Amino acid sequence: MDAQDTFDLTTGRGLMACPRCDAMHVEAELNSGETLRCIRCGGVLAKPRGGAFSQLIALAFTSMVLMMGAIFFPFLEISRMGIGNATSLFGVAMAFADGVLLPLVLAVMAMIVGLPVLRSFLLVYTLTPLAQGRAPYRHAATAFRWSEELRPWSMAEIFVIGTAVALVKVAGLATVHLGPAFWAFCALILVNLASRGFMCQTTIWDAIEDGSLPTDGREMAGGVARGE
Ligand SMILES: [Zn+2]
Repeated sequence: MDAQDTFDLTTGRGLMACPRCDAMHVEAELNSGETLRCIRCGGVLAKPRGGAFSQLIALAFTSMVLMMGAIFFPFLEISRMGIGNATSLFGVAMAFADGVLLPLVLAVMAMIVGLPVLRSFLLVYTLTPLAQGRAPYRHAATAFRWSEELRPWSMAEIFVIGTAVALVKVAGLATVHLGPAFWAFCALILVNLASRGFMCQTTIWDAIEDGSLPTDGREMAGGVARGE
């Protein structure tokens, strides 16, 4: 971050807009534990915490491990009159893999498994050097931007809710036992919640900027201004 109270209206350097109400603020350097709030709507703009990067990396690894369990352990077991069947998410995907449902299976697997794992990878890639106090990797800005763009599309939570609703219907017809994979998914939701709580995007962008990586095209805006 630049020195306190210096900003440039042409490029936006040193300024920060509230993501909810667009009020402009002059950026200030925060110590860990302090909270930066919007003067107009009171929304939290930044809330750096000490050691948050390491915690986010740990949570990203946790979610990758849980995801492996969620895919390959039995998800649920259905039994009726002594005849039972247990399957994992991977087994379900394979069962539908050669029918007309293949595109649906691919989409479901991508949203439930692929995107969360990809997001974890991107976060680890972005945060590992930052947590060690080194310069960020070359594509850290792109990686973090993608991680944020993909956030609404990772749907592990929605999958669990959908499954719970379906199970209530099936439970009337047969005995349903939830397998370890279901609980792994539930744990994943909690890990994601914790990760969301620790995550302060402003602080991460700031750390990437401090590593002098271009993050938002200011360098281009500066070039235009000089050309005029
Ligand atoms: Zn605001």
